[in-house]
Amino acid sequence: MTVTEAPTGPTTTTGRPWASEALHRADPQIADLLAAEAERRAETVQLLAGENLTSPAVLAALTGPLIDKYAEGYPGRRHHTGCALADAAELLAIDRARELFAAPHANVQPRSGTSAMLAAYAALLKPGDGVLAMSLEHGGHLSCGSRANFSGRWFAFTGYGVREEDGLIDLDQVRELARLQRPKAIVAGSISYPRHVDWAAFREIADEVDAYLIASVAQTTGLVAAGLAPSPVPYADVTVAATHKLLRGPRGGLLLCTAELAERIDRAVFPFSQGGAAMNEVAGKAVAFAEASTPAYRAYAARAVSGAQALAEGLAEAGLRPLTGGTDTHLVTADVSALGVTGAEAERRCAAAGLLLGKCALPYDPAPPSEASGIRLGTGTVTSQGMGEGELRRIAELIVEALSRPVTEGVRERVRSLAAAFAERR
Ligand SMILES: *Cc1c(COP(=O)(O)O)cnc(C)c1O
Repeated sequence: MTVTEAPTGPTTTTGRPWASEALHRADPQIADLLAAEAERRAETVQLLAGENLTSPAVLAALTGPLIDKYAEGYPGRRHHTGCALADAAELLAIDRARELFAAPHANVQPRSGTSAMLAAYAALLKPGDGVLAMSLEHGGHLSCGSRANFSGRWFAFTGYGVREEDGLIDLDQVRELARLQRPKAIVAGSISYPRHVDWAAFREIADEVDAYLIASVAQTTGLVAAGLAPSPVPYADVTVAATHKLLRGPRGGLLLCTAELAERIDRAVFPFSQGGAAMNEVAGKAVAFAEASTPAYRAYAARAVSGAQALAEGLAEAGLRPLTGGTDTHLVTADVSALGVTGAEAERRCAAAGLLLGKCALPYDPAPPSEASGIRLGTGTVTSQGMGEGELRRIAELIVEALSRPVTEGVRERVRSLAAAFAERR
C-alpha cells in the first residue's frame, strides 16, 4: 500500500479504525502519515524492546464509546455523573488485574509506566527522601533518579549496579548501600536487565533497613502474567507494571499493592498526580488482562523468551557478547564492540537495513553514553507476528551482516521479505 492509495486492502482486514474513510476525508495529511507508518512497519523488523503490536480486541476497546467518558475518581466514588457503565468496566479491569497477578489491590488508571512510578513514590515518600535503585548506567529507567526526571529532582537517589564479571545484580552491594544510606524505598527492576530478579532477596534487604520495596516491572509485566518470571507481588509493597509492552494491551501503567497501601496508592494516582482516567484505556486494559490469562498468551510469552534465547545465541556465536551470557526474558542486551562499531553506529546500520533496535549503554561501558557499546533488543513484536526461533536465528545473522560491512541492498531486501512474510500474521 502506498501513501496516496485509498486506505483499503490488508490494513483494514486487521480492523484498524484509522484506515476509515472518515479520517481520510477530514484529514488526508494525518491519514497519509498513518498509512505510511503502517507501510514502514510492514517493511521493517521491529526489535525495540518496549514495543509490541496491540491486540486487535484491545484496539477495538480503545476506540469504543468510553473514549468520551469523563470519570474522575474511582468506581462508586466519581466526580461525574453517568458513570455506571464506566464503573463496571473499571471494576472488571481491577478484578482481572488482581486475579491475573494475585494482588490484593490494583489501580488501573496510570497513563504510563512513568506516571505509575510517580504515584508509587508519591504514595510512599516525601520530597527529599532517599531511594536506592539500579543506576541509570547499569539499566535503571529515567524514573529511577535521572536528574532530567522528577525522580532525580525530588528524591535523593543512590544507584546500585551489576557485577563486572558476570553482569548479574550485585546483591552484596545492594545490601551494603542499603545499610549505609538507610533509604526510605528500594526499587528493583530495569529497562535492560535480561535475568530474573531475586525478589525474596530484595525483600530481605528492604526489611533489614525498614525500607519499602518497589518492584518496577514494566518490561516484564507479560512474563509475570504468564508465570514465566517470578512474581514480585508477594514481596513488593508496590509493583509498577506497564500494559503496552510484552502484555500487548493499551499504552498505560498499572499499580499493584498490598491492601494496607490501597488507599494511599489510589490517592497518589487521583487526585494527586492525574485527573480523569482515560476510560477507553481502562476498558482496553480489562481486555488485555483477560487475554493475558489464556493459554494462548502463555504460549506467546514462552515463544518470546525462546526466540530471545535463539537471538542471544546467534549474536554470541558472532562475538556479540550478550549481557549476563544470555537471557531469561524477551530482552537481549549485547556488546557490539567486537565488530568494531559503537552502539550508536550499530543502531544506524541496522536501521538502514530495516532492523529496528536501540543502542544501549552497557554497565562499565568505556564509550560515552551518546555512543555506547551495546544494543538492546526485544522479541515482543516479532513474536506477535508469528516469528519463532528459526526467524530469530536469521535475524541474528542479518544483524551481524549489517554490522560487519556497509549495508547493501541485498541485506535490506532479505529483511524486507522476512518482514513482508509476517506483516499481516497476527
Ligand atoms: C518502560 C519502562 C518505564 C516507563 O514506561 P512509560 O510508559 O514509557 O512511561 C519505566 N520503568 C521501566 C523499568 C520500564 O521498562
